[in-house]
Amino acid sequence: MKEGKRGALAALFILVLCLGVATGILAARITEARRVSAPVSAPESVETAEPAPEPIPSVSPEDCGHPAYENGVCVLCGHICEHPFHDTEGLCLLCGQRVVHHYPGGLCSCGRTPDLHTTLLPDRFYEPCEQAGSIRSWSYETSVWGRGLPAVVRAGIYLPCGYDPAQRYNVLVLLHGLRSTEESWLTTPLELPDGRFYEMRWIYDRMIEEKIIEPLIIVSASQYLYTQSDNFKSSYEQMAAELQDVILPYVAANFSTYAATGDPDSLILARDHFALGGNSWGSYYTYDTGMCQSLPYFSSFLCFSGDAATAWIVESLESERLRSYPVRLYYSAAGDIDVARKGEEGCFYTVVPLVERLHDGENAFFHICEGGHDWGTWSIEIYNALQFLFP
Ligand SMILES: [Zn+2]
Ligand SMILES: [Zn+2]
Ligand SMILES: [Zn+2]
Repeated sequence: MKEGKRGALAALFILVLCLGVATGILAARITEARRVSAPVSAPESVETAEPAPEPIPSVSPEDCGHPAYENGVCVLCGHICEHPFHDTEGLCLLCGQRVVHHYPGGLCSCGRTPDLHTTLLPDRFYEPCEQAGSIRSWSYETSVWGRGLPAVVRAGIYLPCGYDPAQRYNVLVLLHGLRSTEESWLTTPLELPDGRFYEMRWIYDRMIEEKIIEPLIIVSASQYLYTQSDNFKSSYEQMAAELQDVILPYVAANFSTYAATGDPDSLILARDHFALGGNSWGSYYTYDTGMCQSLPYFSSFLCFSGDAATAWIVESLESERLRSYPVRLYYSAAGDIDVARKGEEGCFYTVVPLVERLHDGENAFFHICEGGHDWGTWSIEIYNALQFLFP
């Protein structure tokens, strides 16, 4: 009994001694590392040989107070800053790096609201950007709508500058209107009122470069099928099926998205990271193929200068099948002298009051800018909408 007690006392003494020594070593290492990371000015007039680099201290992130960051990485322990807080300029309060504002409910945690434009964007957004994304062409086989003949539909896929398969990216699918193509949202040269030509992708490049938005993948798809003499518009049912069964699975399987695979279950799980939008007829299709038929796959919708059957939208959103799917964002917009202004605006203000989970100014926004039914308007509104888009 006595022997046992003495043994326990000895063990306790050794344990305390070890702890003391370990704490001492750790403190010494931290002090040493701080001394190393602090700028030391060598005395003038004394020639000193280049000192051998000191080994990087092995302080674990749990024991580190992260006293200083360099490029978002703690100089002491290598911890990568998660940027938990930032100021209204978008600078992280811990590491000083620029971060992207996010506007859930229309307001960023720093108190900032989105930078909404009502006139043409500053000139630099209509100019090529040094950090340019790349465009991949892709096509898939389908059938001539309503005629049962085989056909090929093209799509363009924008990958942001520095696309890295090790990262995950949000995906925006955009649909165009009449007399446009799958290149219009990306590379078609468009003309400004002053005669300058620009491409829509320059806006995305610039917004990503300036950290106004996170890098994303943009798929410019088409609900039109062009043949030599005329074009066919897909039925809403066929386009919805192509979005769900062809376009999204292809993107998820071939690029790094938030969906683990291209299977429906994985796509639906990642629905907050997939958005659908379009201009003119592309807006009709966003309502009819997206909101009404593909809500499990997309949680955000951008509707520019379109219209749709409001009764069908309300009925679909409130249906037993779709009621459990939240809508992250419904952004509707048009130009002030846009021929589709009345339709788009009427649609928004009919649908929102009738759908319980849509709230004007929280997850539903209607915006008017100066412009007609043209790409000038859509260049402004895609800039506005992209800021709200993803979590
Ligand atoms: Zn640290
Ligand atoms: Zn940070
Ligand atoms: Zn912010």
